[in-house]
Amino acid sequence: MGFHITDMQLNVLFQTWQTNYHIYAPRNFSGGGRFSDTDCIRYGKIEHADEIVFDKKSDYSFKEVLTPVSQTLFFFTEGQTKEADFPQKGAVIFLRSCDLYALKRLDDMYLHNGPADYYYQHLRDNIKIVLMGCEHSFENCFCVSMGTNVSTKYDMSIDRQPDGTYLVDCKDEAWVKQLVQAGCEQQEVIPAHVTENQVTVQVPENLTAEVAKSTMWEEYNSRCINCGRCNFVCPTCTCFTMQDLFYSENGKVGERRRIWASCMVDGFTDVAGGGSYRKKNGERMRFKVLHKVLDYKQRNGYHMCVGCGRCDDICPEYISFSGCINKLQSAMTEVTEQ
Ligand code: SF4
Ligand code: SF4
Repeated sequence: MGFHITDMQLNVLFQTWQTNYHIYAPRNFSGGGRFSDTDCIRYGKIEHADEIVFDKKSDYSFKEVLTPVSQTLFFFTEGQTKEADFPQKGAVIFLRSCDLYALKRLDDMYLHNGPADYYYQHLRDNIKIVLMGCEHSFENCFCVSMGTNVSTKYDMSIDRQPDGTYLVDCKDEAWVKQLVQAGCEQQEVIPAHVTENQVTVQVPENLTAEVAKSTMWEEYNSRCINCGRCNFVCPTCTCFTMQDLFYSENGKVGERRRIWASCMVDGFTDVAGGGSYRKKNGERMRFKVLHKVLDYKQRNGYHMCVGCGRCDDICPEYISFSGCINKLQSAMTEVTEQ
């Protein structure tokens, strides 16, 4: 059911949510940007609607709510372990259409790729989704090409209007009841979404793993500096590694954490005996790109990449992932003519 609501009515709704949920949304972290005196937009807890950044793309995605950058799993002493506490409340997460498709990819990896991940499932079981409409495309977005520009599986949608009011489409029955009781004006609402982006990509129909033999990957040996930023901002990258933090010198008391990992950085493919599978940065780029737009689809029926463009936004070497996808067609021609 659709409503036209005021800032005050939205904040009253927020107050009731906060009994059982933390609210996470893209917000401004002053001074947290990549360069001195620049800000960063990433996910954090909010209490009021005016903390949400509606007019810019978030630098980092919502995934850190469900898969924190560093997550303590348990504590250990010589003879005992104790599981880390989970948050007491669930999470209401504000996200955009591409990120809602990314949530499905996270579910694929953490819930359906073998036994469900205990820690992810615990957090995932108690979330509500608020879809933030996109009135226009942001720089480097290519959601239309990836088919992720329209979403319908949300608990509520929200579009901020130029006068500071909001249009919401509410599917959660309890929230609908609250909005009706608060006397909010009812009207039909279709969440804003883009129908075209400046950037378009085309994944070749005939793409196969043979493209790995192309010379196209070599340019990334020197251009990429294996910083891993593209992985950390990506809403669909799910790799992590383990870290033990010892509180005592004898190494018998401490905590085990899992922390984000990146297939682009040194050490990711190191194996026993001193081996390393992908030493060159071009090989890592090849692995990442083909995982996003080839082998994942072979297993799940759709691409892993959702076209948010954050990897292009963040790369310090101006390497374009979308540009790389668009080189795959000629790379396929190159390898089939060999
Ligand atoms: S690969 Fe890049 S464009 Fe695709 S989902 Fe990840 S960050 Fe977004
Ligand atoms: S952000 Fe750019 S330079 Fe850094 S690892 Fe990714 S592609 Fe390479």
